[in-house]
Amino acid sequence: MGAGSDAARPGRNLVFLGPPGSGKGTQAEILGKKLGVPAISTGEMLREAVAGGTELGKKVEGIMNSGALVDDDTMAEVVRERLERPDSRRGFVLDGYPRTLPQAETLAGILAGEGHALDAVVLIDAPEEELVDRALARRRADDKAEVVRERLRVYRQKTEPLVGYYEGLGLLRRVDGLGSIDAVSSRILGAIE
Ligand code: ADP
Repeated sequence: MGAGSDAARPGRNLVFLGPPGSGKGTQAEILGKKLGVPAISTGEMLREAVAGGTELGKKVEGIMNSGALVDDDTMAEVVRERLERPDSRRGFVLDGYPRTLPQAETLAGILAGEGHALDAVVLIDAPEEELVDRALARRRADDKAEVVRERLRVYRQKTEPLVGYYEGLGLLRRVDGLGSIDAVSSRILGAIE
């Protein structure tokens, strides 16, 4: 595990897993800065594509607005291209990918192709009520109440199976997402040491 990663500063190929509203985007940014590696949010990348009116943006806009997932093949291309950029070579904090079991396998394949592997998967969790409240409070264009609920449903159905998958690989680190941003950051640092 972690073969080929920088021996002096190992353990920086990280995935953040958690339901919408769990705060994983915020925490991925903070941890990325701390570790000196990019925080890569696939949701953010797709929103930029939509805002920029690119081919990809046109393809995914309706899907995102419905709360559904973009197809695995499209996401594989997006992530492969991003992880091939030089700034990802020494580590990354992935936020929003993988979201399905096939995506987890794609990610493992991309990393294996470079002689790398994931070092840890941080699961940030919080009670459902808290998640809905938070998601509604920070509402973006694609965050209408029904869409928020749909995202949570899709998370439970498609993404939650990844918890068991990564647990089986010995990579899962569970972190309680309730409390201040700083409190959660400290827990995350403790969990990945
Ligand atoms: P959240 O608000 O749940 O944190 P994100 O910002 O990560 O959501 O992503 C917003 C939307 O972008 C998702 O609901 C989905 O439509 C799309 N998306 C992002 N990442 C993926 C992915 N890995 N697979 C499929 N769709 C994705």
